[in-house]
Amino acid sequence: MPDKAIYKRILLKISGEVLAGDKSFGLSSPVLTQVAEDLKAIKKLGVQIGVVIGGGNIFRGFQAEEWSMDRVTGDFMGMLATCINALALQDILEQREVPTRVMTAIEMSDMAELYIRRRALRHLEKGRVVIFSAGTGNPYFTTDTAASLRAMEINADVLLKATKVDGVFNEDPIKVPKTKKFDKISYIEILNKKLKVMDSTAVSLCMDNKMPLIAFNLKEKGNLLKVVCGKKIGTLINK
Ligand code: UDP
Repeated sequence: MPDKAIYKRILLKISGEVLAGDKSFGLSSPVLTQVAEDLKAIKKLGVQIGVVIGGGNIFRGFQAEEWSMDRVTGDFMGMLATCINALALQDILEQREVPTRVMTAIEMSDMAELYIRRRALRHLEKGRVVIFSAGTGNPYFTTDTAASLRAMEINADVLLKATKVDGVFNEDPIKVPKTKKFDKISYIEILNKKLKVMDSTAVSLCMDNKMPLIAFNLKEKGNLLKVVCGKKIGTLINK
């Protein structure tokens, strides 16, 4: 049976950490290539794709404090880092003939379009992958929160949180290998147990607006296609 997508429109959140692969800093070319190929595969099924990209592989705002720099400056540096990642992913996608638009939450008109919701919706309807960069455009937020916000704004059917592990676990599976993986869990349980999937602002936003969330391992090629076709991998977070 040919693959059939169960979602019409998705919002995929990719953190900088995922894009760095096995490195602690920068971008991994094999990971970027795999992500682009996975995205191309789901686009072929007619799925409309929004991507929110992180920047933690380059800079995170809290690092500014360690260097006696202003936090807000650090956050803007973090937002700029997401733009570097967005341009890299756009390039790799367009090399594979996947039309892609980068939109920024902060005006950088020589480089990419400013995020305007109606324009983003038009790109999605025309089958272009839209990469949302610069987070929410505000300091003290994260790209997880930007992902929840954009998922709601574009009326995505689901928010897919790409991780380096197989879903949501009771404890960090890298430190405690035999820890329990949840197939399904509620938003409130994530918040109460302080489980690491997305930050609490992002999870609360999804909870309040009933946006289903699936955390899954993007490291394995083909997993994105499986999730989009409704295969039971990762952890489903709802209710
Ligand atoms: N950031 C911000 N506002 C936003 C989104 C991001 O200030 O709306 C900054 C923040 O400093 C953050 C950095 O950008 O540390 C990189 O984003 P994030 O840590 O969410 O990236 P990820 O962990 O997904 O790679």
